Amino acid sequence: MPAPNPPLTTRARSAHQLLDAIIGQWRNECASQGSRLYCHPGCAGCCSLQVQASWAEALLLAEALTETEQRQLRGYVRRLLALTRQQRDYKQLLAQVRQQLGSCPFLAADGRCAHYSRRPLACRALYATREPHYCTLDFSRLSSAEKQTFLASLDRRLVDFPTHYAAAPRQFAASLEQQLLQHQQQWTGHRLLGNLPLLVCLAGRPRLRAALQQHATGWLGRLQRRWPLLLAANSNSADADSLPRQHFSP
Ligand code: SF4
Repeated sequence: MPAPNPPLTTRARSAHQLLDAIIGQWRNECASQGSRLYCHPGCAGCCSLQVQASWAEALLLAEALTETEQRQLRGYVRRLLALTRQQRDYKQLLAQVRQQLGSCPFLAADGRCAHYSRRPLACRALYATREPHYCTLDFSRLSSAEKQTFLASLDRRLVDFPTHYAAAPRQFAASLEQQLLQHQQQWTGHRLLGNLPLLVCLAGRPRLRAALQQHATGWLGRLQRRWPLLLAANSNSADADSLPRQHFSP
């Protein structure tokens, strides 16, 4: 696939590099303070959570897909859209995606991300402060007492309460994601973010990609009306910051 929009993908790469550098420093500080993080290569517990990405990041990932991966991605997205049509509630959709679709379509058989260097900010920023078991746990099945015990066990200075994921990397990532969206607004006249597999699938369509490189209010409106639980788009810079944030939701 030809490079669709070099300035946007270049910005996405820079944001990824910057976040990695910031997180590197933060991890050193965590280690010096004795805060333990449980993430390690090959642990893909969080890769069955829904991932939110910006359009720039979707373009970057779409550039790297092989034809086989594109075909597999289209199959995954068809199943995702079928599930979405049956849901009105975002939390229920997240649970259904996890139970019925399983892991992210970019997760390789060895439990590693097949496009690790191009994974979005949301993936880079997720650090578990509890054992891997908690990353795959269905919290809706816990009793009220079990939930209270879990919440009481969290280090509130470290976590993005009420999750067991560290707050600081997610805050850095959210700020960089906003910068990417602002850049997209300046470059194309609109902002677009949402479900990673769906956005990457859309980024693989030349006509749509070309339309979204310009002021494409009609396309954006249609996309958002079709999949309001999966995409958030905005072509009005005045209220662009009101795009809903739907990062991971355990
Ligand atoms: S893009 Fe990679 S790191 Fe992110 S959820 Fe998918 S497989 Fe995991």
